[in-house]
Amino acid sequence: MNKMRSLITGGAGFIGSHLVDKLLSKGHQVRIYDNLSSGKEEFLHHHGENIELVVGDLLDLERLTAAMQDIDMVWHLAANPDIRLGTRVTDTDLRQGTVATYNVVEAMRLSGVKNIAFASSSVVYGEAKVMPTPEDYAPLFPISLYGASKLAGEALLTSWVGTFGLKCWIFRFANIVGARGTHGVIFDFIHKLKADPKRLEVLGNGRQEKSYMEVEDCAMAMIHIVEGQDEDINCFNLGSGDTCSVRRIAEIVVEESGLQNVSIEYTGGDRGWAGDVPKAMLAVDRLLATGFNPSFDSEASIRHTVRRLIEEIGL
Ligand code: NAD
Repeated sequence: MNKMRSLITGGAGFIGSHLVDKLLSKGHQVRIYDNLSSGKEEFLHHHGENIELVVGDLLDLERLTAAMQDIDMVWHLAANPDIRLGTRVTDTDLRQGTVATYNVVEAMRLSGVKNIAFASSSVVYGEAKVMPTPEDYAPLFPISLYGASKLAGEALLTSWVGTFGLKCWIFRFANIVGARGTHGVIFDFIHKLKADPKRLEVLGNGRQEKSYMEVEDCAMAMIHIVEGQDEDINCFNLGSGDTCSVRRIAEIVVEESGLQNVSIEYTGGDRGWAGDVPKAMLAVDRLLATGFNPSFDSEASIRHTVRRLIEEIGL
């Protein structure tokens, strides 16, 4: 791929900052657009002057459009990352997901940028009846407000492809884990153990089972697919092809913590919260057919992440 000038929305966040690392290591130019709501400047400090950071909100269409000047490719990762929030606040995903994504594609139309990669999610499949779930599974009936915003985001992209000649890469992520994680089940478990080293509360019965992918694998897979796939609409599941249960994650966190006599307690029920999908397993044949092989399976991604986050957070 020729050297690109990329704009990364959410580039100061967990996955975004790893994508920035990989793009820079390949010699691309990087501009980041982030309101620093959950992202952190410290995730980017090691790049010094090699990056441009625009602190701005996606809901500010004028500022966003100005940030698209001289850009070849947008990587749209900014969103509310907290799926559970939708059970209490019902318009966050609408604004930070659907409206924000509308602003991104509209800013692209206004400034003539043609290429976009989008961080969607396996939650667009809802409670899929086919597992592992392939990209052409239907119907897409998400069960969380966050999932609805991801599906709406995909639809906005494809409609801008059909109407204004954009090209898009839609990535339906598994659960992404790794260094710099600031949310999610492993992060929560480590914080819970820090607060109470004798007891670990697990939401649900622990049998929830999902696919996990290590964050550097995720960032490299995105770039690999953008470099190699050239349809107008390119849609890929990104995961590691297997699953890990929440029960097993809790055990790994306790093992790696070195703490003794920790009681793992389950709140019960088949899911962590209303809108949580109890079982998700992505088919990754399309990803593997591109020649990309993730370095970690789900359980290895979890163990690697637990070690990295214990180093970062401390226990
Ligand atoms: P994150 O919270 O670390 O990153 C999101 C970034 O977007 C942050 O830097 C935040 O400051 C920024 N941001 C949020 N709202 C903004 C706004 N209105 N304007 C400008 N910047 C804004 O989360 P992440 O885990 O790195 O997620 C990145 C993307 O991947 C998100 O779209 C998320 O929905 C998607 N995703 C993540 C996972 C996962 O397991 N982490 C799974 C599926 C999909």
